[in-house]
Amino acid sequence: MAKPYRAAVRQDKHLYGIGIGSNRRHVRHGLPQGVVEAAIARLEGDFGLFDASSIVLNRAFGGAGRDFANAAVILESELEPREMLAALKILEYEFGRRPGKRWGPRVLDLDILAWDGGAYHDRHLTVPHPALFDRETALLPLAQIAPHWRVANGPTLAQAADFLRRRKPKA
Ligand code: AMP
Repeated sequence: MAKPYRAAVRQDKHLYGIGIGSNRRHVRHGLPQGVVEAAIARLEGDFGLFDASSIVLNRAFGGAGRDFANAAVILESELEPREMLAALKILEYEFGRRPGKRWGPRVLDLDILAWDGGAYHDRHLTVPHPALFDRETALLPLAQIAPHWRVANGPTLAQAADFLRRRKPKA
């Protein structure tokens, strides 16, 4: 008897929250804000893009020198987390990023901030991103587009953003 047909295509889709950052000019896309805009357009072409935050300009930290443009998107993909990380690394490379100083100027930085599969950890990848709940540049754009998302069963992103704002010492 013939074996039942098995579809080779994976059907499961995951939702990902991706953080986007740039603090260096790109020869074609211009200032960091233009780089982030181009990255969002590219992600929209490659994946199912649900939503994109506004682009915010943030002060550089760690001596990188120039202000960052940051945003976050929610996208849908059948890729598993490690495959998604690999896809994002290729995109960073295509935008001219080369491996180098951790806090140095970077054309494009793409991080997996969260996904709908809860906590994920291996040697190369930790999701939620370890800095998600501590860094306004990561948390606030994602909270803007997904305020009710309880990442890894934690508080909603809106609550987490509120905690973070209160925790910050007043200037
Ligand atoms: P970055 O400096 O942001 O480009 O990240 C450097 C390395 O952090 C990557 O090559 C990953 O192996 C690792 N990493 C761990 N967790 C994450 C995450 N959630 N998203 C992106 N990179 C991660």
